[in-house]
Amino acid sequence: MIGAGFAGLSAATHLAINNFSVTLLEKNDSPGGRARKFESQGFTFDMGPSWYWMPDVFEDYFSHFGKKPTDYYELIRLDPSYSVIYGKDDVLDIPANLNEFKARLEEIEPGAAVQLDKFLAQAKYKYQVGIHDLVKRPSRSLMEFASLALVKDVMRMDIFQSMSSHVRKFFKSDKIIRLMEFPVLFLGGTAGNIPALYSLMNYADIALGTWYPKGGMHEIIKGMVALAEEKGVKIQYNAEVEEIEIEQGEAKRIRLTTGEKIRTDVVIAGADYHHVDKHLVNPKYSNYSEEYWDKRVLAPSSLIFYLGIGKKLTNLRHHNLFFDEPLAPHADAIYTNPRWPEAPLFYACVPSVTDGMVAPANMENLFLLIPLAPDLEDSEEMREKYYEMIMDRMEEITGQEIRSHVVFKRSYALSDFKADYHAYKGNAYGLANTLKQTALLKPSLKNKKVSNLFYTGQLTVPGPGVPPSLISGYVVAKEVIRENS
Ligand SMILES: Cc1cc2nc3c(=O)[nH]c(=O)nc-3n(C[C@H](O)[C@H](O)[C@H](O)COP(=O)(O)OP(=O)(O)OC[C@H]3O[C@@H](n4cnc5c(N)ncnc54)[C@H](O)[C@@H]3O)c2cc1C
Repeated sequence: MIGAGFAGLSAATHLAINNFSVTLLEKNDSPGGRARKFESQGFTFDMGPSWYWMPDVFEDYFSHFGKKPTDYYELIRLDPSYSVIYGKDDVLDIPANLNEFKARLEEIEPGAAVQLDKFLAQAKYKYQVGIHDLVKRPSRSLMEFASLALVKDVMRMDIFQSMSSHVRKFFKSDKIIRLMEFPVLFLGGTAGNIPALYSLMNYADIALGTWYPKGGMHEIIKGMVALAEEKGVKIQYNAEVEEIEIEQGEAKRIRLTTGEKIRTDVVIAGADYHHVDKHLVNPKYSNYSEEYWDKRVLAPSSLIFYLGIGKKLTNLRHHNLFFDEPLAPHADAIYTNPRWPEAPLFYACVPSVTDGMVAPANMENLFLLIPLAPDLEDSEEMREKYYEMIMDRMEEITGQEIRSHVVFKRSYALSDFKADYHAYKGNAYGLANTLKQTALLKPSLKNKKVSNLFYTGQLTVPGPGVPPSLISGYVVAKEVIRENS
């Protein structure tokens, strides 16, 4: 196994309980991949994911091993779930309680509560079929989707309509539309190019809630590592794979950058797909051409700031979406005419609002994220320019000085994603879930020319995000088990 991210850990543990002897090779000195953490000056920063959605997927994962998430971490449901900042004195807190949420919508657009019920009824159906069935299919053959019941379901799943037009059938208010379109940003696209199937994300958001594992998102990784090791997975850190040695269409050995060679019967690569396909195998065994990869719609990269603030902040919740600028020009800068955006939307996470463990007393842990097009030129000057830009806005909108209280600061962007994870074009979240990159149209989880080389993670099925990565590991493990029994 290559890569100790969510997908690699999931695949490894599923194989281990099926009597495979599994060694997991990780290039970095700690597990988690994009969900690593670091500590400095008493602050604990989650490096990547911060939204814990779809708690049932985590329950499902641990239940495969006779466990529960709470065996490893304590979960807190956030209330408000998050805050949407449309401008100064124009802030919408999203209550965890559904009736309160409806009341809030009704204040913005009379009739929206009834519309929400209809919208959510469809979204719930999509969630149940999508998350509990469709995403668990390996998507290697059309026949997997050929049963009559499923064809009927697929039609109800709204695959051929965009989220953007779907949402507008229910709501008129620009504020509500932006709110309903926000969750698809997690899928690496915009409401215009993401199928309405993914209103299932609204069900996850509104009905299932936003949760937080005490100690931070990395606690999930800690739990998964403990479980993997309990089941017999051997994890080697600082073990960067340089080549998968293939003979006559079969992967035989894995060579590390140290020169060490490890004999193998099956390889599952949880590292970025493009890196494996283009750099770890002899080009004659690549699954896809460089042109194919270049044409994929990647999910965005990000510019991130991890900040330690030497005082308590006001007017900020745990999750804060700064929607005080229009989305369209920012989306254009990510997808259509890639460039550094003129006036980006951004996200601020302050986990210390909920959890005193992630910052010293009377201080705040502040994570700022600006989504960016992949493959942009990344420089210190640009990072600083955007730091000042979003700090100006945040200070003005929340009515307080923040910059002058920064006691710790680290930035992270495209070049770091490339250096740390071999991320193709410096992507943060893998491949976007556009219609043309769904199910069978995603890079395949198996190599077509190498009989025992499989792929998992956010660039193959089912897609980006923590829950899909967990499922990806499960799906690939099932395929390996099926082919080897
Ligand atoms: C900034 C950010 C915010 C996010 N926010 C959220 C969120 O709030 N909620 C959510 O659900 N999802 C979120 N995501 C997405 C989610 O974190 C990812 O989809 C998920 O973690 C991907 O897991 P993975 O196992 O596919 O890949 P990775 O985590 O990238 O794991 C791949 C592993 O392979 C290793 N590797 C690479 N090359 C080699 C090699 N040659 N040899 C050995 N090892 C190698 C890497 O070091 C890495 O550990 C976010 C992602 C980012 C980056």
